[in-house]
Amino acid sequence: MIFWFRNDLRTHDNPALQYFINSFSNTRLSNNSSANTSESVTNMAKAIFFISEKQWQLHDWSPIKVDLIKRHVKQLSEQLTQLNIKLDIVEVDDFQQQIQYLAELTKRYNTNEVVANSELEVNEQARDQQCIDAGINLTLFESDVIVPKGKVLNQSNEMYKVFTPFKRAWLKYIRDHGFDYFPKLIQTEQNEADPAKTSPSELTKRDTDSPSASWPLANVVEQLVIPSFIQDKLAYYDEERDFPAIKATSGLSPYLAIGAISPRYLLRLILNKHPDILLSPDLPLFTWINELVWRDFYRHLIFHNPNLCKHQCFNDKYKSTLWPHNESYFNAWCNGKTGYPLVDAAMRQLNQTGWMHNRLRMVVASFLTKHLLIDWRQGEKYFMQKLIDGDLAANNGGWQWAASTGCDAQPYFRIFNPILQSKRFDPNGEFIRKYLPELSEVPIKELHLPHGYIKKNNLDAYWPAIVDHKEAREAALNFYK
Ligand code: FAD
Repeated sequence: MIFWFRNDLRTHDNPALQYFINSFSNTRLSNNSSANTSESVTNMAKAIFFISEKQWQLHDWSPIKVDLIKRHVKQLSEQLTQLNIKLDIVEVDDFQQQIQYLAELTKRYNTNEVVANSELEVNEQARDQQCIDAGINLTLFESDVIVPKGKVLNQSNEMYKVFTPFKRAWLKYIRDHGFDYFPKLIQTEQNEADPAKTSPSELTKRDTDSPSASWPLANVVEQLVIPSFIQDKLAYYDEERDFPAIKATSGLSPYLAIGAISPRYLLRLILNKHPDILLSPDLPLFTWINELVWRDFYRHLIFHNPNLCKHQCFNDKYKSTLWPHNESYFNAWCNGKTGYPLVDAAMRQLNQTGWMHNRLRMVVASFLTKHLLIDWRQGEKYFMQKLIDGDLAANNGGWQWAASTGCDAQPYFRIFNPILQSKRFDPNGEFIRKYLPELSEVPIKELHLPHGYIKKNNLDAYWPAIVDHKEAREAALNFYK
């Protein structure tokens, strides 16, 4: 039997790996007990991970996300050694070559059994089917959601089209299945590590040359970031999460996106501290869990509507809409040169760091689709090419929400005012000034739309607004109508 790592780069809460380890131990036990000294019984189990840069490029994965994956695969390989598993990291171009390689590998090892966790996206599913068609006995488990996909259905046995009833049914599923539903964690020295044994300086040691160097590895996140988030920030998340100048959110999305941390593991940690929290979804303390439910919601949505992977509008009404395209507007948006400070600062955050605060993702997505009337798919693609946490389900869900084409999306007439959003969520201008230092001299009263001040004071600090907010709003309303 061979284990195939894909979007599940972890040893904890990994159902397929648990099955693999159990099967391997049983096989070894039975081989030993029958005193079989055959050379085919090796001491180490075999796992594989494919680096497929060409395929990843086709899926618009950003270089920073690819780098984070490679760093984690290296770490995973060390963790697996402790579990007596040898991880081969193999470079092949694309899915076709993965299938060929696996077919040859299984032959070489005289087994056709391969174990893995399933992947959600259509191309990945098609690849798995081709593996099965090629004679590989692929056993799949599910590891990417808290509540299994296909288990949260309305009375007509269909996927919910509105988030709140989905959440109610999601909560009911967990309550009905209780704690037993959460699989045991596989312990390795790494995730057991006693911080006293592993010094903080060693934990936070970074590979400074790597593009994702400012993001520590998941073992550090598990030992330092998550406990401190649950201890110090969870209670304030509801109040502070919308302010990009405050570090109030968890920053866990890159790890969830590559499967280095499991969402069930996170929920389990929170339940350890707040055992009754799922009974009180209206409490502010639940707000962060609510985001994990949104994450599940978008994954369940793709499971039931695979065409979303092909970038179709969820809402049929918009399927044949032709968005006018203006290349210079699009370039201005990508490069943070729209003349709206909050939008521009947000795009600079994305371009410089590979991450963007959620409030800002909503603001810039609304601006692109409604102020500039550019097809949401252009923004979706650009985000994937830049984000360290690029994730098809969450990204597609977020873009279709902002563009009003999605499931439980915001209504088309709700158009964020980028100036009011700026005043409300960056009231002291700290975030804007961090990413637009050229505006550091502009007083806070003028900062959110500084053009009048700049002109009056003859400054050469900033570019004009590419569209007028009121006119753009009217145009968007007419277009959507
Ligand atoms: P926290 O606020 O700490 O939330 C915890 C976790 O919940 C996140 O790590 C994430 O996994 C999940 N989550 C939070 N908000 C959402 C949401 N709205 N939808 C789905 N899951 C959520 N998230 C991605 O992981 N990848 C993407 O490619 C992505 N693209 C987005 C595009 C747009 C236009 C929008 C509006 C949102 C997008 N999001 C995406 C959702 C959200 O912005 C990020 O998950 C969040 O900003 C990550 O920061 P955090 O880990 O500190 O989140």
